[in-house]
Amino acid sequence: FKARWWALNKVKSVCSYCGTGCQLTLGVKDNKVLTTVYDENQGFHNGQLCTRGRFAYQFVNSDNRLTTPLIKKNGKFVEAGWDEALKLVSEKLGAAKGSVGALTTAHLTNEELFLFEKLFRGTLGSDNIDHSAGYAHAALTEGAQKAFGTVTSPSEIADIQKTNLLLVIKTDAYETHPVLGFEINLGVKRQGVSLRIVSDKKGKISRLPGAKTSVHKPGTEIAFVNALANVIIAENLAVAGVAGLDQLKAALADYTPEKVAAVTGVAAEEIVALAKEYAAAEKALIMLPIGLGYPGHDAALAQAVANLAILTGRIGKEGSGLLIMGEKNNSQGAADLGIYPKNGGLKGAAIIDGAANGQVKALFIAGENPVVSYPNRKKVEAALEKAEFVVVSDLFLTETAQFADVVLPAVSFAEKNGTFTSVGRRVQQINKAVKPAGLAKSDFEILNDLNAALSGKRYGNVAEVFGEIAATVPAYQGLTLSGLGDEGAVLPVAPAAKLNAVAAPAVPAAAGKLALVTGSALYHSGTLSRFGEGPMYVCGDAYAELSEADAKALKIEEGDAITVKSDVGSVSLKAKVGKRLPAGVVFAPYHFADASINTVTDGAAVTLVTVGK
Ligand code: SF4
Repeated sequence: FKARWWALNKVKSVCSYCGTGCQLTLGVKDNKVLTTVYDENQGFHNGQLCTRGRFAYQFVNSDNRLTTPLIKKNGKFVEAGWDEALKLVSEKLGAAKGSVGALTTAHLTNEELFLFEKLFRGTLGSDNIDHSAGYAHAALTEGAQKAFGTVTSPSEIADIQKTNLLLVIKTDAYETHPVLGFEINLGVKRQGVSLRIVSDKKGKISRLPGAKTSVHKPGTEIAFVNALANVIIAENLAVAGVAGLDQLKAALADYTPEKVAAVTGVAAEEIVALAKEYAAAEKALIMLPIGLGYPGHDAALAQAVANLAILTGRIGKEGSGLLIMGEKNNSQGAADLGIYPKNGGLKGAAIIDGAANGQVKALFIAGENPVVSYPNRKKVEAALEKAEFVVVSDLFLTETAQFADVVLPAVSFAEKNGTFTSVGRRVQQINKAVKPAGLAKSDFEILNDLNAALSGKRYGNVAEVFGEIAATVPAYQGLTLSGLGDEGAVLPVAPAAKLNAVAAPAVPAAAGKLALVTGSALYHSGTLSRFGEGPMYVCGDAYAELSEADAKALKIEEGDAITVKSDVGSVSLKAKVGKRLPAGVVFAPYHFADASINTVTDGAAVTLVTVGK
């Protein structure tokens, strides 16, 4: 960068990528974020950041940023002023009152999400609101709500190093939440924590000393977890007096290790050994992440996993319990603020369908890119093409924004104030470090302006909205913005513990087909990181990864151009051949806009594909 560190203006903030909630210090000069400055006194992570937090801030300064509102006229975007753009948007939203759909990203601040909820559920009377694919974190927290009576995890990040046994389900924290990966590393190497992984593929954390990974067939994780519960009950390893134990025992009677071994491909003895080891540990913490392409059964998965912690009496105990790892920086805030349909409204994918069939008359998308991130890209594109009126607020003219009637230029985390709530339930402040790009406005301003135009109610500033959150969202009660300080505040949680029997979904199989697993490779969701030079330098091309056995059978070598094809579409990708995948599984990262794998995914528990040159 182009300045000595002492010449930089240093602004404390919070990373805007994943839910870990790492604090960082932005180094600013001439209204540009030039670096992040290492500060060992910051946060639970002592200033450590992953590649994204450290090097992927360049999207803030990107020349591709939107700097003025755009209105589509005769099929082409024309630059417009804010007055014209907001007048058009408020008129269209007002006319569609009661049948508006609204999608947002959990990259927005709590205060912006509060205004989002006020505008769409309140002023416009629509329950069709959702964030970042309702199949993911929202569904996990829906499961948590059923198990614990709260959308928050009962455990904290600090529990990772206080436990004796970590059971991580379908995760590679080094990819999804890298600094939590460092925490796991420290737990294993310094505290002697035993690491057990249940996943459809091996990841980097599988290489940690003593780690054992049970690799199951894609889509069979609920059957696997149910079998663990079955063994815990059958072997009398459940704590005494757990309410609902007999009902759960009856409901899971069929999930014997032998039967589940046939479904998951993991040996019955391995399932029994893991169940016994988990139950015997003095303290045991389960980590359940999203961001790995979970396909539709997350609420059930969260309940199945919660059963293990409840059966063994691990809720509310230090170093034990369940940590749900929200994908985005403010996934937890979005859950806390109710950014999902509550009263029978449409969920994310159904909102897009509704825009195509007329059920949704006006669609507002804030910071989300469903064309790339939702399953079945062609279907999403066709729906947006058909939609009556689409508004997108974003930093960039994304693949989704191309379909919009109005595009509103929004700002990044470095250009605004507000709060995010992390995986560990910590509410932390971000601080404005640079002026907005061009005429861009924060989503706070955009949503506040629209709400004022439609309801007459205008909020003053971030502190006022935070005060209203503290007054209306029970977990935030008593908090003030000024009281958060540098450390932030950890929200209290008082989890109940209710066993819920859930059935494992049927998993399709077909001769000659492979099961497609999608997930993250360095980038996170890609909405921001693809505009950063750092990650693009390390991992710039979309690829599909095959096991050595499948590659040999299909005569595919590393670097070959291959086609991955399903019933809904096909995509050409570069082949990667690796040791971590079992035969019968193909993996592809989901965040590349070109050659995107969501051309192939269909939203089912498992997408079956053929792969060839
Ligand atoms: Fe940012 Fe997550 Fe990396 Fe921390 S772990 S620096 S929050 S992307």
